[in-house]
Amino acid sequence: MSGTPDLLVVGAGPNGLVAAIRVARAGWRVRVIEAADVPGGGLRTTEATLPGFLHDHCATVHPLALASPAFRTLDLARHGLRWVHPEAPVAHALAPGRSVILEQDLAAARLALGRDGAAWERLFGPLAREADRLLPELLGPVLHRPRHPVLLARFGTPALLPATTLARVAFRTDAARALFAGLAAHAILDLGRPLTAAFGLVLGLLAHAVGWPLAVGGSGAIARALVAEAEACGVEIVTGQRVASLRDLPPARATLLALTPRQVAAIAGDRLPAGERDRLAAWRHGPAAYKVDWALDGPIPWADPATARAATVHIGGPIGEVAASERAMAHGRVTGRPFVLLVQPTHADPSRAPAGRHVGWAYCHVPNGWTGSMQEAIEAQVERFAPGFRDRILGRVVTDPAGFAAGNESYVGGDINGGIQDIRQLVFRPLPRLDPYRLGGAGLWIGSAATPPGGGIHGMGGWNAAGSILRAGTAGR
Ligand SMILES: Cc1cc2nc3c(=O)[nH]c(=O)nc-3n(C[C@H](O)[C@H](O)[C@H](O)COP(=O)(O)OP(=O)(O)OC[C@H]3O[C@@H](n4cnc5c(N)ncnc54)[C@H](O)[C@@H]3O)c2cc1C
Repeated sequence: MSGTPDLLVVGAGPNGLVAAIRVARAGWRVRVIEAADVPGGGLRTTEATLPGFLHDHCATVHPLALASPAFRTLDLARHGLRWVHPEAPVAHALAPGRSVILEQDLAAARLALGRDGAAWERLFGPLAREADRLLPELLGPVLHRPRHPVLLARFGTPALLPATTLARVAFRTDAARALFAGLAAHAILDLGRPLTAAFGLVLGLLAHAVGWPLAVGGSGAIARALVAEAEACGVEIVTGQRVASLRDLPPARATLLALTPRQVAAIAGDRLPAGERDRLAAWRHGPAAYKVDWALDGPIPWADPATARAATVHIGGPIGEVAASERAMAHGRVTGRPFVLLVQPTHADPSRAPAGRHVGWAYCHVPNGWTGSMQEAIEAQVERFAPGFRDRILGRVVTDPAGFAAGNESYVGGDINGGIQDIRQLVFRPLPRLDPYRLGGAGLWIGSAATPPGGGIHGMGGWNAAGSILRAGTAGR
């Protein structure tokens, strides 16, 4: 690119890349600056354990990408991206030898959930069937004029509840209650807090509406396709350049920081109004992830073989066990039986490991910045539901909160969602205004997991920020 860029984007995660594409498509000259040597942020895949074993450093499961209005505008297939669906979106290991499987098809789910099948269908059916109208309402600022108020109310009424309350009110069986709690636990909050049910509702409706797919070859394939699409639009991507201050950057008409608020406060400094800078600097980060990646010499030997049908397995136990683990984490502690989110991608995508071999990862939630080890506790949880699992481990890599923060500065203290997603920080993410992407400093925007709709691979934070930039028309085009 010759000459001054119109837009500078700092951070080449999914949000930064999607924003760059949207603005470049409008004819702007765009440059993306990324600290790491490889673009992608939470979309990186490497042979982290042994040659031939492909491990996703962060995200693997992509219902949000498939449903994202931003991703739907991108023809990533022409850059080689292929999605693959496991037989079922998710399994919940309820007891040794007994898993509950969530089927994508609502009629099959109704059948599988027995006494709670009809209740599950009543809760999720209307939301899943209207997903194309509902999701655009949910994947932008919370404060907005709804286009489909009745539908939004249908979602919002149960969504306001604590997940544990909704599970107990809506369902009678241990199976459905635990399944719902496992979905809601992606909130990384105490499940007794209001609005945690929203996370379970969104992930459940996505399971039925689009499934929980994986990218063939690993999530790095999504990053490569986004980069190829960005470059096809003329975007220049500079890697290996950490931005510490706006003074490090060349002049541009607009700058989008695809980062978290504390980073934005430090980088933008006195280019921000003092009150806004203080508010961003006081942003609260949430609990962290503690993750173990494994190279395995065979599939995980689940006591209930049906567990292998899903790529994502929630471990588990009944709702009380899930809630106790998440409550402990929210109060600065861990339990001996943590709630574990496990992904076994190689049943659906064998290209990630040598023939007959497998990869897998699992994480549990720990307090932000936590320094202890959870490797033993995580592996004991898997062994509890899959006796003989430990004997299959050929190699492992452990990533603790400090490891996440070292690999990506946006994972502050190991927080993978860009800031705790409690009521205040979900509604005012990151600032209380109708356009939460536009900062007070002239020509400055924020668009990341720390902006609506929050964490996950959907690119909507970047997409919405790009819309705000284009509306402001800063380039004068
Ligand atoms: C273990 C784990 C599992 C996950 N699983 C899933 C999943 O299965 N599905 C899902 O949807 N989501 C998942 N997520 C969440 C998802 O990865 C994140 O929410 C998402 O990546 C956030 O996107 P982003 O673009 O806002 O930021 P990021 O992807 O974090 O990208 C930010 C980028 O900015 C760069 N950067 C930071 N500071 C600077 C600086 N000063 N100068 C220049 N560059 C900088 C970073 O290097 C990084 O590349 C997971 C996350 C983790 C950690």
